[in-house]
Amino acid sequence: LEILFESSADTAHLEDPFPTLLDRRELIPLQAGVFSYQGGFLQTIEVLDAIFRYHALEMGAIEQSFGTTLPLRSLFENGYLGAFSHQALFVAPLQRRLSEIRRLAEAKTPEEKAGILAQTIDDHGQVLSPVVCYHCFETLRGSCLSLDGSLFTACARCHRRESEHESLVRLQTFLMREVIFFGRDTWVDSVRMNLIAHLRDLLLEWGIRFRIVTAYDPFFAGGHNKRLYQSYFSVKYECQLLLPHIQQWVAVASFNNHHTTLTRAYKICGLSGSPIHSGCVGYGYERLAYGLYCQLGSDLGTWPEALRSHLIPARG
Ligand code: AMP
Ligand code: ZN
Repeated sequence: LEILFESSADTAHLEDPFPTLLDRRELIPLQAGVFSYQGGFLQTIEVLDAIFRYHALEMGAIEQSFGTTLPLRSLFENGYLGAFSHQALFVAPLQRRLSEIRRLAEAKTPEEKAGILAQTIDDHGQVLSPVVCYHCFETLRGSCLSLDGSLFTACARCHRRESEHESLVRLQTFLMREVIFFGRDTWVDSVRMNLIAHLRDLLLEWGIRFRIVTAYDPFFAGGHNKRLYQSYFSVKYECQLLLPHIQQWVAVASFNNHHTTLTRAYKICGLSGSPIHSGCVGYGYERLAYGLYCQLGSDLGTWPEALRSHLIPARG
């Protein structure tokens, strides 16, 4: 792990805001790793997204909106089912058998229904999307883009099976905005650096304790490209916030250079048929909001003006 930048801000709040967020019903647990949001926490996420969405659109990004599921084929082709198969969550319907569907409808107890379900679940042809950018790649599958550069952005819920759910740090379902960009290798990396600087400047303005580090992503170590991609140590940068109450760093955003791995997988090329590079930046909103609560406290009224000025008084 290499530290590229670290802020020296003080972190005064040493309490975990998690119990307070539950008490105030800003966070309402549904099942392991899945929460509903309201009040200040929801507002914080909305304010954060307004900031990153605006910046992406200002850079010329085309906004997109996606469904929740991806065809399995997408994960077969892009390598996700190599390095990350343990995190995939599959979606399956019932088998198209009228008698079984009727049996399920007529079953009286939850146990009876569960027993019938276990026998009638059909093949898993779909998966809950684990990231935002695969949908963007799907929208461009088989097409040619200008090497001069193009950007896309979308906000979506992402789903990953995690081995342990730690409060808001490891969720099964979380919100992420991504900016996805395509162009020459030098341009792709300059966009990535630009987006790192944008987040760095915001966090400095808000007085947040954070660092930018190089990270290791097993995605790039998988499959036949192992050697090649391990040598690109800088494929992934992360922005981490300090959680003062446990003195641990947590990644809130990642800055990825895919080189040509994903454009090749989705058969996307330059206008002349030449290879094209891609990159993506993802902001994980629950972690970002939680990190802000940990460092700035649960009273939004005391947050830095630059951040507070975006918040409208919350109700409920
Ligand atoms: P990644 O695609 O793994 O680089 O993740 C991008 C961002 O998504 C991370 O920096 C986190 O902010 C967020 N993230 C990833 N996994 C989780 C999770 N299980 N729970 C909450 N946020 C997550
Ligand atoms: Zn991505």
